[in-house]
Amino acid sequence: MNMSNTMELDEAEPTADQTKSIKTTAHCLFCKAPLTHTFVDLGMSPLCESYLTSDQLNRMEPFYPLHVKVCEQCFLVQLEQYVSAEHIFTEYAYFSSFSDSWLKHSSNYVDMISNRLRLGSESLAVELASNDGYLLQYFVKKGIPVLGVEPAVNVAKVAEQKGVSTLVKFFGCQTALEMVANGQVADLVIGNNVLAQIPDINDFVGGIRIVLKQGGVATLEFPHLVRLMRENQYDTIYHEHFSYFSLITVEKIFAAHGLVLFDVDEISTHGGSIRIYLRHFEDSSKPVTSAVVNLRNREFAAGLNQMATYTTFSEQVMESKRKLLELLIRLRREGKRVAGYGAPGKGNTLLNYCGIRTDFLEFTVDRNPYKHGRFLPGTHIPIYPVEQIRKRRPDYILILPWNLKDEIVAQLDYAREWGAKFIVPIPQAQILA
Ligand SMILES: [Zn+2]
Repeated sequence: MNMSNTMELDEAEPTADQTKSIKTTAHCLFCKAPLTHTFVDLGMSPLCESYLTSDQLNRMEPFYPLHVKVCEQCFLVQLEQYVSAEHIFTEYAYFSSFSDSWLKHSSNYVDMISNRLRLGSESLAVELASNDGYLLQYFVKKGIPVLGVEPAVNVAKVAEQKGVSTLVKFFGCQTALEMVANGQVADLVIGNNVLAQIPDINDFVGGIRIVLKQGGVATLEFPHLVRLMRENQYDTIYHEHFSYFSLITVEKIFAAHGLVLFDVDEISTHGGSIRIYLRHFEDSSKPVTSAVVNLRNREFAAGLNQMATYTTFSEQVMESKRKLLELLIRLRREGKRVAGYGAPGKGNTLLNYCGIRTDFLEFTVDRNPYKHGRFLPGTHIPIYPVEQIRKRRPDYILILPWNLKDEIVAQLDYAREWGAKFIVPIPQAQILA
């Protein structure tokens, strides 16, 4: 799940409240050491899911720095400056249930974890940032009690309609204490693609320790920093993602809160993620697996405990931009028409950083009806329903959510009728065979 969001831009300029919400983080989100090293600077970008309506196109649009730094003490990769979570996350445009492959992934996870932990009608599965109930619904089908915690009112409402009981709140130590007071102690705590979006990571992780039953397990999934770096996934950087994790750093963060990272799965979602398993320090029934030791060793071998490894990433990103522009310039000079597929947050980082507007991409399409008739932030590329691909017959289709490229190419198979070809922008611009 990508916990993306939107906000309505009612004012031409940032309101006083918005301005106040911008903080400059001169210190590490976790260990508080001063941040002095750049990981990558993607320039100025609008909030990547603030889709515009047509009457907003002629107004000023707030842009914020996308300057990512790395802590020299704990190697946490993080955005130096950010917009407050309350400002970003109160209404999402994103509904997790719009991706078939994500639903399949979630249903497989629920089968696996309920067997592994022998969850039943006496258990409680709690998901943090439970979105529209895309995952917890599968526990409900098995008769396993659930509680979602979700700050966005609109998606929480959809979850309730699916029978997924949902607490509409931000999660942290305070919320965890309230849950415990209500007898809501979790056998399983789930956090999928939420850790990156937490501005106060110590408060969030502390909350997990509070709400997790002794003997319980927490699993968290998030994109793996190693994959981001190796595969140039700079477009997964946006204002809503405050931090980017390696195993060695995340292990330190949880250890500081009395939680032991005892197992890890490497999974393919979001371009390469890891799922970590955590338990209380006192729970000796779950030994640390060789998978943890192996991945930790591979991260050391890849140099993730050395600053030089991080500071060379920038040049790789710039070269990726040059290659994508080179391809698009060539195609447009040949008179080819190029459309986009998808309007994900990552697309907006990419398009804004590369300066790709309607001069390169005529339009994009998306399955989410919320986005139809709106425009991408910054680049003002119009977003249409998917059927417009068939109607307008572009020569090339640039797949913005490249992590779903197989699913999308299969869905758009009919575009081959008129000889359309697909392009992925990451790790390097490439026309798919
Ligand atoms: Zn640090």
